[in-house]
Parts: sequence; structure tokens; C-alpha cells
Amino acid sequence: MLSWEATPALSPMRCARAWVEINLTALAHNVRSLKALLPEGTDLLSVVKADAYGHGAVMVADVAIAAGTTWLGVATVPEGIELRQAGIEVPILVMGAVNDPAEVRAIAHWNLQPIIVNPKQALVFSETLKGQGTRLPVHIQLDTGMSRLGFSWQQAVEFVRFVQQLPYLETVGLCSHLATADSPDQSVMQLQHERFECAITSLKQENLLPARLHIANSAAALVDPALHYDMVRVGLATYGLYPAPHLRTQPKIALQPVLEVKARITHIKEIDAHTGVSYSYKFIAPRPMKIAIVGIGYADGVPRILSNKMQVILHEQRVNQIGAITMDQLIIDVSDLKSVQEGDIVTLLGKTQHHCLRADDWADLADTISWEILCGFKHRLPRITLSNQSAPQITSKYR
Ligand SMILES: *Cc1c(COP(=O)(O)O)cnc(C)c1O
Repeated sequence: MLSWEATPALSPMRCARAWVEINLTALAHNVRSLKALLPEGTDLLSVVKADAYGHGAVMVADVAIAAGTTWLGVATVPEGIELRQAGIEVPILVMGAVNDPAEVRAIAHWNLQPIIVNPKQALVFSETLKGQGTRLPVHIQLDTGMSRLGFSWQQAVEFVRFVQQLPYLETVGLCSHLATADSPDQSVMQLQHERFECAITSLKQENLLPARLHIANSAAALVDPALHYDMVRVGLATYGLYPAPHLRTQPKIALQPVLEVKARITHIKEIDAHTGVSYSYKFIAPRPMKIAIVGIGYADGVPRILSNKMQVILHEQRVNQIGAITMDQLIIDVSDLKSVQEGDIVTLLGKTQHHCLRADDWADLADTISWEILCGFKHRLPRITLSNQSAPQITSKYR
């Protein structure tokens, strides 16, 4: 990420070709609304893996904690360390698979909580932590139907018993992950729920049930209070997007998208009819046109598959993108706009007075999911934070 503090004359508000705006007021609103869905005593874990789905992990964590988040979730050990190094003190769950002894030591050192997915991994942890005075808090993950991480729910009793007799681990949680919570058809989710319940019942009988149970992601947290248990692990909804269209149409809570993407027009030109536009001439001008070059491309997070399909907002009008999207630039048709100028700001994702373009819209056009669209903005563009209280500012505390 570029450091704008080092070069204030290059402030993105003044001259950058493109940037991401993170609306902290929307973020805090989403977290408070999610928290309000949960009964007293149920923890809200905000998932901030992948640099908070492209929004900036430390910044999101700080704002979320101030708004009611009590746990954070990451995918990898380095993601957890980043939060600790920034001074964040809430419990952090590492949801990815950790097998490497060096990572196990880092987990203990940085006070992170791993998931344990099978006996072999539990042994690696226990061996590595040998001689430590304390037990490492761990969460046991059961596979109830996702077929990703986790040990078979049918062997929950044997597995939990095995982990609990290891001297250097302390089982503080039992979790699972849902495969189809965003589907209007809830049958698989309910089957996973039943399997989780079944494991819970048999663990209870053996007096082996860990204290903290959790299974819900965003969709499940929005759909079914019976899946809230002691904690919900919410990613996408934190960032203001609904996991599926049917959840958006009659929402339990009004989520607000947090991330907006803007870019400037760098050049404007007139072209003749039959002129080819951009690589491979995927667009041929059907008539004389006025086109504008915009300083953002697929390396910034605009999927190239949206070429010739997407629209942007300019001067409160929806305008077609034309030709192949290139690495750093794309082209739009501004033939119908009178007063367009170089330097004008184009909204690619976000809300203007009359229009709104969402990551879901792109996801539909690109045959993917909004999660992937958001993650595309992780790397290259500078981030600006906005809140309703303050003027736009380039964060100095966060990058
Ligand atoms: C990413 C992830 C989540 C969050 O999922 P969303 O659908 O974004 O809410 C929850 N739990 C686990 C294990 C995950 O990997």
C-alpha cells in the first residue's frame, strides 16, 4: 500500500487516478445492527481475514470493537499478528489450518486461538508447546457437511476426548462451518444444524462439551436465531452486503455498503464511427463517439470480465464502459454528456444522489460472488476513510 503521508502533495483527494473510500459510519452502523440481532451474552465475532475483505483489517477492527464487536476472526497467523502488533487486545480466532510448529509457537506467543481439525494436528500443537506453563486455548472444529476443515461430527466424542487429555491444550470452543447458509433452500443448513446438535448432545452426556459453541456465518446470523449459539462469525454483512438476493429483499436489518470505488477521467477524445476501442477491439464504435479514459483497471480490482458489461456513474448518469478493461485503465462512453472534463470523478462502486452500484451487481455480471469482488481491492489503491462526522481524510494511523 502506498504511503500518502510521505507525499502529501500527492494526496489522492487531489490528484490520484483512483482510490477506495471506506465509510466508517456505515461500518459502525452495520456492526451495531448485527449486535442488536443477537441476544444478550452472544458474542459478535467480526471476520477481518484478507485485510478485512479489502477494507483494511486494523482500521475495521478498531471501528468494529468500538461498535460492539468482542471477537475477531482471521484466516492466517500473520493476519492475527498484524492485529496484535496494532495493539488490538480482543480474542482472535485463527480459522485457517495451522500445522507448522513455527506457526504454533507464534499462535501461543501472540495469544491467538486456533482451530483444531484432527488428532494429528492436535498432536503437533501439543508437541510444540511441550514445557509451556500454560494451556493454549483452542476451538475444536467439526465437519457437519462443509467438507472443508474439521473432524467428522460422528466422531465428536472421541475427538474432543483426545484433545482434552493433551496436556498443553485447553478446549474452549466447539465450532462448525455452514456450506449453504445463503441458499433460499434451508435443508442442508438445517441438516448441518441437526448434526451439530447431535454432537453437542453426545458431548454433554460425556461431560465433554466445550464452553463456547459457534457455527453461524453472515447468512446464518441473519436467517436463523437458533444458529447463534454463543457467538456468530460475521464477515460479509459487516461490510454492508447481503449474502444473497433473497436476504436483501426483506432485510431484518438495513446494512450499508462500506466500500466505494472512485476514479478520475484522465483523458477525453472523439472517435470516428467504426473505430476499434482498446485491446483486441472488443468494441467497435457504431457511430462517432466521445469517450473518456478512466484511471483504473483490473490490477486495481475491476474484474476484466466486466469489459463491455459494466456501467459507472458520472454526473449522476449511468454510463457504459466500452472495450477491454486494461491493467490500469478503462474506457467509458461519454457521448451523451455535455460538460464532462478531464479530472472528473467517476463512481465505480458506491452510492450517489440518484444511483447505487453494489459489489453484488458486479458479482452477478462477473458470475462470481461479492466476497471476491471486495477482496479484489486489497492491494493497490490508496484507501481514504470517511465518516459522517468528519471531512474525508487520508488515514495516517492506518494504511
Ligand atoms: C470467512 C468465514 C466466515 C465469514 O463468512 P461470511 O459469509 O463472510 O460471513 C465465517 N466462518 C468461517 C470459518 C470463515 O472461514
